[in-house]
Amino acid sequence: MTQLISTSDKTVEDGGLMHVLRRIYDENGRRYYKSYLFVVLCLLVISATTAFSAWIMRDVIDQIFYNQRKDLIAVISLAIMGAFTLRALAMYFQATTMKRIGNDLVASYQKRVFAKLMSSGVDFFNDNRSGRLAALISANIDGIRDVLSLTITSFARDFVTLVGLVIVMFLQDATLSLITFIIGPLLIFGVAYVSRRIRSVTRETVQLNARVIGTMQEAMQGITVIKAFTMEEQLSRKIQNTIEHARERNNKLAVVTERVTPITEIIAGFAVAGAIAYGGYRAINDAQPPGAMFAFITALLFAYDPAKRLARLKVNLEKAVVNARMIYEILDMEDKQRDAAGAAALVVDGGEIEFENVDFNYGDGTAVLHALSFKAESHKTTALVGPSGAGKSTVISLIQRFYDPSSGNILIDGQNIDNVTKSSLRQQIAFVSQQAYLFEGSIMDNIRYGRPDATDAEIIKAAELANAHEFILQQSAGYDTPVGENGVTLSGGQRQRVSIARAIVRNAPILLLDEATSALDNESERLVQDALEKVMKGRTTIVVAHRLSTIVNADKIIVINDGQVVETGTHASLSKKKNGMYARLNHLGKGGKAALDIE
Ligand code: ATP
Repeated sequence: MTQLISTSDKTVEDGGLMHVLRRIYDENGRRYYKSYLFVVLCLLVISATTAFSAWIMRDVIDQIFYNQRKDLIAVISLAIMGAFTLRALAMYFQATTMKRIGNDLVASYQKRVFAKLMSSGVDFFNDNRSGRLAALISANIDGIRDVLSLTITSFARDFVTLVGLVIVMFLQDATLSLITFIIGPLLIFGVAYVSRRIRSVTRETVQLNARVIGTMQEAMQGITVIKAFTMEEQLSRKIQNTIEHARERNNKLAVVTERVTPITEIIAGFAVAGAIAYGGYRAINDAQPPGAMFAFITALLFAYDPAKRLARLKVNLEKAVVNARMIYEILDMEDKQRDAAGAAALVVDGGEIEFENVDFNYGDGTAVLHALSFKAESHKTTALVGPSGAGKSTVISLIQRFYDPSSGNILIDGQNIDNVTKSSLRQQIAFVSQQAYLFEGSIMDNIRYGRPDATDAEIIKAAELANAHEFILQQSAGYDTPVGENGVTLSGGQRQRVSIARAIVRNAPILLLDEATSALDNESERLVQDALEKVMKGRTTIVVAHRLSTIVNADKIIVINDGQVVETGTHASLSKKKNGMYARLNHLGKGGKAALDIE
């Protein structure tokens, strides 16, 4: 099982910091290298102008104030103005270019992750709750952007600036510089101590935050059920615990991260104070012009910020890399259901479907299907009936290869579906699920998902067959009316008819129907039923049937109980069977339309 949202730290140590960094650079370096060169150029200008501003302090003090050279005032002031203007421009271009690259990166990883999610098996989505997954992805993609911008900015700007300033310091006073740099090792030691804790706390924090946002999203989706069952308080209490836990972890992360601050500030304060004391002492004792000392202290003060950022670099990188690694965990997930090597395209003639001794479990070891065998003849309608939990929907999932059987074969027109490509298999199938999912877009778009190259006329024809045309025309913008999340603007029966139109447009030889158990009003039910009958015509249909009329009209009825076929026949033959399961279910079902799925 691929659980991405566990709170385990198991994978935290997998792959070192450098490994993730190298991968991010390998994947993105080439694409952006021109922009990066430009950024580095800007950063070099920033560094050089900063070093220049410190260096010129010596002349400001010695020439203007000490030697009182009037002629140099204008030159030096102009040079400082020029340096600051150049620095400002370089900063602007560097920042905008970096932001643009960052946004581009986020977009490209979003596309990659979405494509990966789309190609992942259904089992992945069973293991990971969608709301949390979305929150996790959104929080983590920023990590990849941060890794790149942190390393570029810190290295090119802060490191180069620091080098420039250190050169200025050495030129002014070599001994003092050496003394000042004793603090270096102290800083490294302090920061290494902090970054050790960062990884595990970051991972846990991201997961908890994703849980909070995910739970909220799920609650919003199920708001009507929450209201109906007056679950508001219960759920609020439940989420409060998660929120509290997340708050506590966020605080912990802040404390761990900010431990760097006192370490760097105190050490830097010692260095500045030491330099001033020593320099002041020497200036007074040796009666030297103060310019060099001023330039040194200015360089030291300028060096303070980049040195601080460099010291924090490891800590910030650790956080960003944890995020990046979580994205790579998704991108690197192995597809459990790869097409077999050399898999051919499925060729459907009639569309006969056969199950041969199929065993199946959902990965938790509990057998759901046991040696299940049956045949659904081509161009005929086969109804699957049986008690709830018998395995009927599972059969429908297996035909589409959402999961693979643990043993046994599923054949379509004699071809084992294990040996054909998944896309060719699914192209031959139209599926109408229990829940009529509508996606963001117009009604027209939603029907067209059945076959992207369908013409408008074909879509309208399909909607007419699905008894949807009339109500669609009554909508504010007809076929162009947007449907909201889950199609909230349409009724249940209307949504079902739109999804039937989608199946009709697909025009596939095999139709799989998981009939909705939710009761519709009589008129709506009649329209849906009538639409279904039209779409079934001439196709090989397997229907998980709950409505008596569907079952009665089926060419063949297969009664499934506890993952096995217990009876096969027609309504007429099975109803007559004394003590047969179908006869019993049918008897109980009389008078109620959806009573065939009783225990
Ligand atoms: P119903 O008529 O209520 O929809 P069904 O006959 O279609 O029931 P299935 O949905 O196929 O039954 O479920 C068969 C068994 O498999 C049940 O015991 C169910 O708990 C289990 N099951 C279904 N889906 C999953 C899943 N994604 N993961 C684990 N177990 C599952």
